Amino acid sequence: MEIRVENLNYHYNNGTPFARHVLRNISFTVPSGKVLGILGPIGSGKTTLVRNLNGLASPTSGRIFIDNVNITQIGHGLRKKVALVFQQPEKQLFEETVFADISFPLVSGVDFEEEDVNLRVRQACAIVGLDIDVIGDQNPFDLSSGEKRRVAIAGALINRPDILILDEPAANLDPPSLKALNRMVDEFRKSGARTVIIVSHDMDCILPSLDLLAVMKAGEMVAFGSVSEVCAQLKDNNELRPILPTIGLLAEELRARNIPIPTNNFDLQLIKKAIMDMLSAERSLK
Ligand code: ADP
Repeated sequence: MEIRVENLNYHYNNGTPFARHVLRNISFTVPSGKVLGILGPIGSGKTTLVRNLNGLASPTSGRIFIDNVNITQIGHGLRKKVALVFQQPEKQLFEETVFADISFPLVSGVDFEEEDVNLRVRQACAIVGLDIDVIGDQNPFDLSSGEKRRVAIAGALINRPDILILDEPAANLDPPSLKALNRMVDEFRKSGARTVIIVSHDMDCILPSLDLLAVMKAGEMVAFGSVSEVCAQLKDNNELRPILPTIGLLAEELRARNIPIPTNNFDLQLIKKAIMDMLSAERSLK
């Protein structure tokens, strides 16, 4: 589903002496089925922005559309359509079994047939790469931190949202869990025309999943485009350069030196091969 944000402004404590203008004239569009990364220093407004997207906060001014429908018209269904997974979601696990934790958002709401609950849990687990037949009866607290996070994300997928927003999903994950996270984002996107937004202050580990990158600074969206476009735009910005994806910057610098790195290539092995090929070609010319 397409997400379109038009001139979004948000003030905390609006109308009081403590009012703070923390989102300023933000406009962008994420086409259906794409993955957007939102990068920015701590306090730049990333979390406030995604809270506006799933209705946990309401714009002070401006409009947000999902497939051309203003989200104010969607009402209570918005939270089911747009799942927001908070930082360290595993801290919110509380049931005695993995199955009970994942299915909790269903059981606590409308009555679902047991068969439908089983099917939904199985599908959510397939997306996050967990085998429910193996871990369904285990206590979630006995799992590794990466597995716990996947259980928590499966719980967010149980209502089959069209849009998934992950706030700092990669924090404290080991390399295998990061790989699983990228795979999960890909599976979710492929399971329909579903759209993903990933908030992070460090994009390197999630880079393979991204179609688009936005950079926030002090409440403004200062760049939006492909990873290559954003790295090219901000590479000389002393303040923001340190938070840009290192591999994206490296690819951009190599391209500026006429080393042919495709703009969607953030695979270090392929970048290394392009450099080695270039060096061998230079040597054979001498
Ligand atoms: P980020 O996710 O990029 O770290 P946030 O959206 O959490 O940024 O915060 C943006 C700004 O809004 C920060 O200056 C923060 O201090 C302020 N802020 C966040 N929550 C509140 C709140 N409940 N009341 C007032 N100001 C807040």
